Amino acid sequence: MPRGGSLSRASIIDWARELYEDLDFTGVRAWLQESPDRKAVGYLPVYVPRELIHACGMLPVGIHGAGDQMEIIKGDAFYQSYICHLPRSVVELGQSGKLDMLSGVLFPSTCDVIRNLSGMWKMLYPDQYVRYIDVPQVSDVEIGSEFWAGELRRLVKDLGELSGTAPDDDDLRASIGIYNEVRTAVRELYRVRNERPWDIPTEELYLLMRAGEVIPPEQFLTRVREYLQAVEAEPNRVRDNSRVVMIGSFCEQPPLGLIKTIERAGCYVVDDDLMIGNRFLASDVSLEGDPVDQLARAFVTDAVSTSVVYEPDPNGKKEHVKAQVEAASADGVIFAAASFCDPALLDRPMLRDGAEQHGIPCIAFKYSENSGQFQQFREQAGTFSDSIKLWGGE
Ligand code: SF4
Repeated sequence: MPRGGSLSRASIIDWARELYEDLDFTGVRAWLQESPDRKAVGYLPVYVPRELIHACGMLPVGIHGAGDQMEIIKGDAFYQSYICHLPRSVVELGQSGKLDMLSGVLFPSTCDVIRNLSGMWKMLYPDQYVRYIDVPQVSDVEIGSEFWAGELRRLVKDLGELSGTAPDDDDLRASIGIYNEVRTAVRELYRVRNERPWDIPTEELYLLMRAGEVIPPEQFLTRVREYLQAVEAEPNRVRDNSRVVMIGSFCEQPPLGLIKTIERAGCYVVDDDLMIGNRFLASDVSLEGDPVDQLARAFVTDAVSTSVVYEPDPNGKKEHVKAQVEAASADGVIFAAASFCDPALLDRPMLRDGAEQHGIPCIAFKYSENSGQFQQFREQAGTFSDSIKLWGGE
């Protein structure tokens, strides 16, 4: 990555793509080698409080599977055929030694598959710190906040012991402050893409988000600022595309080729839930008072609506689809979820019903992180885009 002067859009995206394709996590290993005291802690999707890992002086590392870049041999032996692909490739990465630089791995309570993977991980890698993180699933703010603050305090204690640096309140506040900046930067990227989707193609936005999962947050902030400058300096041509929201891709990620295919078929993605963990808290966490209490309360009061968070209102998810489409000024919805993803696919009929009740055009498909054929998606997304332009999706 060249230093000094303004960086071109292409050089920033090339740098991000290199990190995305690097299944050996060379950047993480290089960061660790800078000091023998450094440690890195991995985490599975969807949400973990990265602030706590950072406050202990360790590097949070997102583990998002191997995409379409690795043949799965060992990973398949651990799972039956009728579950999603992500845990197979995570096991494959682990069994191939590609995650051996991690001192610990956090498994949030996203679904049964990830919970079971945490148990397997404990048996496979007894030397790593393994923690299943039970995020709150209650609507009562006081009960949920108290429960989650207790979980977070136990996590801080464990991570402090792992790193050898127990953070005090000021350390925690400083890390929350950094991640507030990250949230602001991500919101800004999403805002600009929504306003000018031709200037921030989703392929580029996605690669930046993936890079942000394996580098220190301070470095991510620098890259986002450089990218936004490059976007202003190198505007793209406006195309006559339809504006769509992509829903359902919050955990196992689609292959990059699928994201590109959707846009090249004539759909600007103007909002999505790809890797939503990095913007799970919709606004800044307060830096007043007890930092752990504030982080806990932020989750209970300010988490985005998604399939992995309990929704007490039976119509809440249906209404959310409408609100999300309106907020994004979108023309339609693409429900794109990983095959066998229970949280996404159990929600899909309800979400689709919500879209249809409000007259919002939508299509749905399933993918796997290693899907290699995009013709079917190209035809579906292309027809969808054309139908929106011609008849408003009728
Ligand atoms: S893709 Fe869906 S089913 Fe698979 S691990 Fe993620 S949330 Fe669970």
